[in-house]
Formats: sequence, C-alpha cells, structure tokens
Amino acid sequence: MVQYTENQKSIAEKIDTDTVISNWKNWKWQLKHSIQDIDTFEHLLDIKFPPEERKELEKTLAKFPLSVTPYYLSLIEAEDYKNDPIFLQAFPSPSELILNKCEMNDPLSEDEDSPVPGITHRYPDRVLFHISNTCSMYCRHCTRKRKVGDRDSIPQKDEIVEGLKYIHSHPEVRDVLLSGGDPLMLSDDYLDWILTELDQIPHVEVVRIGTRMPVVLPYRITDNLVNMLKKHHPIWLNTHFNHPREITTSSKQALRRLADAGIPLGNQTVLLAGINDCHRIIKSLIHKLVHNRVRPYYLYQCDMSEGLAHFRTPVGKGIEIMENLIGHTSGFSIPTYVIDAPGGGGKIPVMPNYMVSWSTNKVILRNYEGVITSYKEPDSYEAIFCDRNCDDCKLQLKLDDAQEYKAIGISKLLSDHDELVSLVPEDTDRMERRNGE
Ligand SMILES: *Cc1c(COP(=O)(O)O)cnc(C)c1O
Repeated sequence: MVQYTENQKSIAEKIDTDTVISNWKNWKWQLKHSIQDIDTFEHLLDIKFPPEERKELEKTLAKFPLSVTPYYLSLIEAEDYKNDPIFLQAFPSPSELILNKCEMNDPLSEDEDSPVPGITHRYPDRVLFHISNTCSMYCRHCTRKRKVGDRDSIPQKDEIVEGLKYIHSHPEVRDVLLSGGDPLMLSDDYLDWILTELDQIPHVEVVRIGTRMPVVLPYRITDNLVNMLKKHHPIWLNTHFNHPREITTSSKQALRRLADAGIPLGNQTVLLAGINDCHRIIKSLIHKLVHNRVRPYYLYQCDMSEGLAHFRTPVGKGIEIMENLIGHTSGFSIPTYVIDAPGGGGKIPVMPNYMVSWSTNKVILRNYEGVITSYKEPDSYEAIFCDRNCDDCKLQLKLDDAQEYKAIGISKLLSDHDELVSLVPEDTDRMERRNGE
C-alpha cells in the first residue's frame, strides 16, 4: 500500500477540497489538474516569487509553457526550492529567454531527416516515430522545446497512417522507436492499434517506447496498460530519470509492473548543470535504477537547443563522471555517455581514454586505479579477407535472413572489399579547385 507524503496530502486538498485522496492515483485526474500557471504553483507550494522575478517568469511562460503534474510537484521540497532538482526541471527560469548564437531551434535536424511527417529516419535500420507531441510534464530541458505546447503539431490519425506506411515500405527498418511528446499520453486503445499495426509489419523486429511517465506520472502505468503492452512483445521501454530523488515508492511500483510484464527497461539521463552534474548523484541514480531493474542506457550531453544554455555543462564534466563510474561500479549499471551531434550526425559516444600507447605487437592500457598494463597481441593471426561473400566464408554466418547492408563511413574505410581510401569533405578549397569551381 502506497503511503501518501505530507506534501501530497496538502497539495491534493488545496487542488480540490472535495478530493478524496484516492483520486491522487488516477492519472487522468492528475492530468486534469496539471499546474500551468504561476499563481497555482505558488499557492500549492506555499512560496512567493518576488514581483520583478514574476514579470520575467511570465515572459518565459509566454514562449515556453509550463505544465507539471501534481504528483511531480509534490516531490519538490519547498524549503530550498531554488536548488531543488525537481523544481529546476519543472519550473521555468528567465534564463530560458537568453538565446546564444550557437543554439538552434532543431539542433538535431530531426525535421530535415524526416521523409514523412512524424518519422525521423537517420540510422540505417531504425526510425524514430513521433506519435504524440504532448507530455504530462513539460521538462524545462526539453530538446524539442520548439514543439512543446504547440497544438498544431499533434499528429492526426492520417499522419500516423502515413508513418506506418513508410515503415511498411522500408524493409530495412527493424526497430521502431515510439517517441513524441510522450507516447503514453495516448489512450490504451489507440496505442494498442498502433502496436497492432506494427506487429503486422514482418520486418519490424522490435518496438521501443520512450516515455517519462514512470518519472512524472507513474500512475499512468496501470495494469490495463501493461496487460495491453505485453500482447505486443518484444517491447522495450526507455524512461528518463535524472535524479535519485525521482525514484519514489510510486515510481518503483510503476517500474515493477513494467518489468514484471517482461518489458526490458532502460533509462536515458540528461546531464544538467545544477541538477545532476555530480558523479555521486549519477552513481546514486544508476544504483537505484538497477535496483529497480532498469538498465542505465545513455547519459546525454545537453543539446544545443534554444533556451537550454543554463543547463549545459562542459563535456569535461561528463568525462569526469564517466571516469568515476567505469571500474568503480558494476559495468551493467554504467550508461554510455553521448553527444547527439548537431546537424543530425546522431549520437556520438565519448569517454575517458584507456589506451595509453600501441606498438606493432603490444597495447599499453591504464585502468581506473592508474595501473598501467600491457596486452601482447598474438604473434600470428590469420586475417580472413572479406569480400562480403558470406556464403563462401569459413566463418559460418549461415543465416538465411541475415541482412546485408552496404558499408558506410569508417566501416567502409576499414573494409577489404571497398577500394575507398579516404573520406574527404566536399567543400574544401582543394576539392573545389579539382572540380574546376
Ligand atoms: C536516438 C535515436 C535513435 C536510436 O538510437 P539508438 O542508439 O539505437 O538508441 C534513432 N533515431 C534517432 C533519430 C535518434 O535520435
């Protein structure tokens, strides 16, 4: 039985004097009573912003709207709200209006890599499918801030049908990431329909759901939802915890339900200045995650989206955090630290260097303690020349359905079967001279 905190009782009573506390766990009640203005925010938390600050806040809200579930609000500790990690993720800051030159509306060029509305097809074998542009909570650090609260960009059913058609006609797509917005804002029936459609596409091997519901509205993870999801296995789910304080009795229960339904759980954390840019906080977070059967998946460098400058840290902070994790704690609890390349290059992993030096037959490595060690490579190794003719190869791939992809990028340079020796940017002066421009 979940006990309610003092905060939760006090907020529930203020929202609605007739409210019986049992409504608190009804996700629709939570959505209906989402906090979207400063007055209510002040009233529920018993805080008061200074008048000059309020003016700035109103300006921020006009550009980037506010919406917080009563549940997520109840996690704020009002005494020191200014440094509270929940408050900072939920409540606007006038800094959001500061626009730096390098910042972009769509830093990841998701719209450019979009063959049909709602689909971002960036990688060879997987697509991002935006099936909802609304969320139960508007994260202040949202990379898709450009779309938050924009009603026009809520996809219509015919748009979803177009997306499904695209996936249908692209047999290389074996992994579909349902994203948004938050896909779990859709009703169980509607989601059931989308998942059923995806089930019928033979080349789709796995569906992933990206949702922040276990963090900001754990009551959305109902038995009904979970029973529906498990009809569509294999379903994987990634959620978005940023701070150990977000792991509560209610969120643990949501995670337990999902894990018990056989849904492998992952977590994506964004490195946020003033919120979690500390290796002890990240370590505590990942330990709590694995304790609740969630595998830390990515730690993201904060994107260069408009209005996020105050959340960004140097990359060195992320490397320092990784240095404090690798070797120090269980390997399976360590996320991959990635920078999502501006301009649409995708996620690029970065980590401390472990390779110290290399000769023709030895590699020199260092470990997390500073031990320097050497690994001797074999004296002889019979490399197998790869001409991509797997049927005649002595290595037995022997999978009828093994798909062949053309080599791209660095793997093309590495390959034996392709003559390409260098990748050269097209627009250098040298190349332009060659082309007689
Ligand atoms: C993150 C992302 C994916 C999935 O990447 P994984 O590394 O497979 O998790 C796919 N498409 C786009 C556009 C993405 O941003």
